[in-house]
Amino acid sequence: MNTQPFLSSNQSISFEIFPPKKWESFPNLYETLDSLKQLNPAFISCTYGANGSNSKKTAEIVSYIQNQLQIEGIAHLTCAALTKESFLSTIKTFQEMGIHSVLALRGDKPQDMTEEAFASRTYQHPSELIPELKAAGFTVAAACYPEKHYEAASMEEDLHYLKHKVEQGADFLISQLFFDNDIFYRFLDETDKAGIRVPIEAGIMPITSAKMIGNTINLSGASIPKKMTDLLAKYQDNPEDLRKAGIEYAADQIRDLQAHSVSGIHIYTMNNAKTAQDILGLL
Ligand code: FAD
Repeated sequence: MNTQPFLSSNQSISFEIFPPKKWESFPNLYETLDSLKQLNPAFISCTYGANGSNSKKTAEIVSYIQNQLQIEGIAHLTCAALTKESFLSTIKTFQEMGIHSVLALRGDKPQDMTEEAFASRTYQHPSELIPELKAAGFTVAAACYPEKHYEAASMEEDLHYLKHKVEQGADFLISQLFFDNDIFYRFLDETDKAGIRVPIEAGIMPITSAKMIGNTINLSGASIPKKMTDLLAKYQDNPEDLRKAGIEYAADQIRDLQAHSVSGIHIYTMNNAKTAQDILGLL
């Protein structure tokens, strides 16, 4: 069931971006966002550091998306380093800046945090933030993992906690990236059997360089199908062809997901509007 007006068009496209390291790079990001607007996304979300360090940047960017571009802007919010006080002040800032949608997350242990501090954090899981965010009037999304979260002992356990996030009020879910659509379809079946009945946006990460496999992809834990390893091997010495093949791969994935009537596609843009334009141009 879909209760969010900005998700009302089935098979919507949405984007994720992240805050630049330096404030000086904001004009470039705003240009990227202006280009992404031309692609008519249902929403654009902006990441948030696990230690909360770029919370002001996230708020600035989401406010630009919401108020200047008039597109639904979703602020990620991680609870790994949140205290009750910082949580309340962050959501107050969001409200004052006209932001009304949040992706509630836990985040991983920040590098500068001890194991003890991480273990005794105020909010253990986003399920503890969600009711407070809902009570404050926010639309709330949560994360889900088609190949299960790396800490979960089993998919069954992960789905149990995912259902809990939905029961606490998550309006919709955004998936971790994946490269094998069959894994996502299996996951949709499993969520359905578990009684999870909110829209699930499919996370797609276009691979545009060999370097991306080493970094982002390894961190996500997504399995890499043979089709993609073959493609990487074939074009390893030709960055331009590799980029083209990566874009075609993502477009193929999206075409197939749309044919299977998934509720929406969430593209991890890595702040690259051209990549998003090229993918959508192929659809
Ligand atoms: P949780 O929902 O807490 O899940 C983590 C683990 O705990 C899972 O194994 C789950 O089964 C278990 N669990 C959940 N609830 C409970 C409970 N009540 N009791 C016991 N166990 C429980 N990270 C960032 O730092 N910034 C970002 O902006 C960001 N954006 C993301 C966007 C998306 C779409 C996704 C998929 C991930 C994003 N991440 C981001 C990464 C995310 O923070 C990590 O994957 C983190 O390890 C888990 O976050 P979570 O919100 O899924 O945690």
